Amino acid sequence: MNEVIVVGSGLAGLVAARQNVLQGRTVRVLDTASRAGASALSAQIAGVTLDVGTLYLDPFDTALADVVDRSGQSPGLVPSEPKRWWLATPTGTLPLPEMHVVGVPAAPLAAETIAIVGRRAAWRGMLDAVMPGPRGSKASTLGELVRARLGVGITDSLVAPVVRALTGSALDELSPTDIDGLRHLMLQQNSLTRAVTQLRLDDAGHHRLTAIAGGPSTLVTALLAELDTYGVPIELGVDRESLDMVRDDADSVIETHDRPRGAIATLVLDGSQVPAGRRGAGVLAGHSTGAPVRRVLDLSSLWPSLYGQDPSLTLLRVESDSELTVDEAIEIVARWWDSAGVNAAVKGAYLMRDDDVNP
Ligand SMILES: Cc1cc2nc3c(=O)[nH]c(=O)nc-3n(C[C@H](O)[C@H](O)[C@H](O)COP(=O)(O)OP(=O)(O)OC[C@H]3O[C@@H](n4cnc5c(N)ncnc54)[C@H](O)[C@@H]3O)c2cc1C
Repeated sequence: MNEVIVVGSGLAGLVAARQNVLQGRTVRVLDTASRAGASALSAQIAGVTLDVGTLYLDPFDTALADVVDRSGQSPGLVPSEPKRWWLATPTGTLPLPEMHVVGVPAAPLAAETIAIVGRRAAWRGMLDAVMPGPRGSKASTLGELVRARLGVGITDSLVAPVVRALTGSALDELSPTDIDGLRHLMLQQNSLTRAVTQLRLDDAGHHRLTAIAGGPSTLVTALLAELDTYGVPIELGVDRESLDMVRDDADSVIETHDRPRGAIATLVLDGSQVPAGRRGAGVLAGHSTGAPVRRVLDLSSLWPSLYGQDPSLTLLRVESDSELTVDEAIEIVARWWDSAGVNAAVKGAYLMRDDDVNP
C-alpha cells in the first residue's frame, strides 16, 4: 500500500503531510493529543485573542522558520521592533548596552556595560582593542572566544546570561560560527568589539524575533483546511506505539517530536499601570537572579502592529524552561519591573505548559 504515516500534528507534521500528499502519496496523520496543532494554540485573555504557545521565529533556532517556509502558506512575517533589552541582576534591572550582539558589547566602557559588570571588568574588556587580532580566533566555543578577548568579568556577568536567556544555550555550547560573520569580521577588524559594532551597523538581524501575523495557529488552521480538501485523515488520540501494528502497511513513517519548552505565561495588563521607564523588548534573566524564568517579552512593544493596537493594554510573555505558575510569573514581572502595582494591573493570564501541547 502506497501510504505515508506522519506522527505528530504540530506544524512540522502538518507541513510534512502536505508535502507528501502534493507528491501524490496517500497520507495519514496520527497524534496522541486530543487536538491538532500541538504547541500552536490561541486563547482569549481579557478579551484579547492571541497565540499562547509557539509565537515567533527565533533567529537562533531556525527549525520553526524552516517549517513555516515550507508550509505553502504565505504568512505575514513581522520582524520585531529594535527595542532595548533589560537584564535582571541581583541588584536590580539594568538596561543592556545599546550596541551588543547576544550580550557581547561593542563598547566595554559604555555606562550601561559598567553598571552591569563593574569598572574593573569593563577596563579589562578594553584590552580587546589592543591585543593581537588573531587571539581567540581559533576558539572552538563562543565562551572561549569571549573570555580570551573580553575577560572573565564581562563573560560571566553579561555575555553568558544574555546568551542563555536569548538562545537557551550555555555560552560554551555555542560555536563562534553560530553568530554569522563574527569570526570573519573579528579577523578583519582585529577586535571582537569592533566586529560587534560592524555587525550592528550592518543590522544583521541577530536580535530580531519574527512574529507571524495572526499567530502560528492561523497556519495550523490553514494547513488543516488544505489537508482536509485532499482527504488526509488527522487521527487524534492515537499513539505512535500503535504504529507497530500498521508499519508493515506503510511505505514510510515520518516522525515529528515535541520539544519540551517548560512553561509560558501570557499576561494581559492594564497598560497605564506598567512603568513606562522599563518598556522595551523585555527583561532577560541575569546572573544569579534565582528566578525560574528565562526572559519576559514585552509583546506590545516588540510588535506594536500585532499586540499594541489597544494602547490601554500591555501584553507580556513570561518564558520558563521549567515549571511555572501564573502567580510566580506575576511576581517576577513585579520584581523585574520594580513595580508592586503590576499585581493589580493584571487583567488576565494564560499558562501554557508542556501538558497543554499534548492534551
Ligand atoms: C509552549 C511552547 C512554546 C513554544 N514557542 C516557540 C516559539 O515561540 N518559537 C519557536 O521557534 N519554537 C517554540 N517552541 C518550540 C516548538 O515546539 C517548535 O518550534 C515547533 O512548534 C515545533 O513544531 P513540531 O510540529 O515539530 O512539534 P510540536 O508542535 O511539539 O508537535 C509534536 C506533536 O507530536 C505529537 N506526538 C508526540 N509524541 C507522539 C507519539 N508517541 N505518538 C503520536 N503523536 C505524538 C504531540 O502530541 C504533538 O502534537 C515552543 C514549544 C512549546 C511547547
